[in-house]
Amino acid sequence: MTITESDTINEVHRSAVVPSTTDLMVPPSVPGTAGRRELVGNVAIPLSRALPRRLLGVWAHPDDEAYLSAGLMGRVIDSGGQVKVVTATRGELGSEDPELAGSEAFAAYREAELRSSLGELGVTDVRVLGLPDGGCVATESEMAVAALIGCIDELRPDAIVTFGPDGITGHPDHAQVSAWTTSAWWARRTGTELLYATMTSDFAREYGAMHDELGLFAEHRHGRPATVPQAGVALECSLNRTELVRKRAALARHGSQTDGLAQAVGEQTYFSWWRRETFRTPTASELAGQMAPRADTGPDQRDDS
Ligand SMILES: [Zn+2]
Repeated sequence: MTITESDTINEVHRSAVVPSTTDLMVPPSVPGTAGRRELVGNVAIPLSRALPRRLLGVWAHPDDEAYLSAGLMGRVIDSGGQVKVVTATRGELGSEDPELAGSEAFAAYREAELRSSLGELGVTDVRVLGLPDGGCVATESEMAVAALIGCIDELRPDAIVTFGPDGITGHPDHAQVSAWTTSAWWARRTGTELLYATMTSDFAREYGAMHDELGLFAEHRHGRPATVPQAGVALECSLNRTELVRKRAALARHGSQTDGLAQAVGEQTYFSWWRRETFRTPTASELAGQMAPRADTGPDQRDDS
């Protein structure tokens, strides 16, 4: 797809093949989905615990938030809560076209995709830090952490969702965003829960072969992301069909990233692939790095009253 500066996001989307809601119905015969409660009907599936009232999501590139938390964000908005999304970069390297990759036009296009995708979920509070795509590790951490602390002070979230330290896919930007978010949360942690998006062993078993075939985790130092057993999940949002249709619509808004992948795996598989959003709490050893400087920072600066 070639995008010129004169293209608007809507023009491009009008011409893109975006499946209608009817096309997205998953028939019960799809292997692995038959009989799954969350795919039958539109009955709300309870969260594994209380829903955050104010949710802050911190991610590296436009589309990370949609894959890992679109269902959760939509549910918080539906329940009258607030959601703020911070995206570190504009994702300007996310094109194989050398004329587009890294260009201002493509950065603007992806940022528009992000806002449009979040619009599908009713999320309007979006902060793009504008750091260089692929350049988070080389970015001054103090500045990034200060920006995130500012966002925490603004929203006073009950929960912050981000990547775990391995960044799920192993992308260095993801891992760096995890570290920054953990530091920012630590500085303001009273009353706010930090949750890392994670994959369960069940999910890895179901989709592991497909992930390998796609080379999705080729950047990961272990070749595959770390997984947790179901018992290690602190918050799970299993999407019902209505929510899944909405998540698919949000992913479609990131068409520059998602159209090709959906075609590669097939629409039915793509539709139900990310139907469960799972999060875990950081381990003590993951927080150990935060604890040392903590001794110098005095008492908590937040009070959640
Ligand atoms: Zn990413």
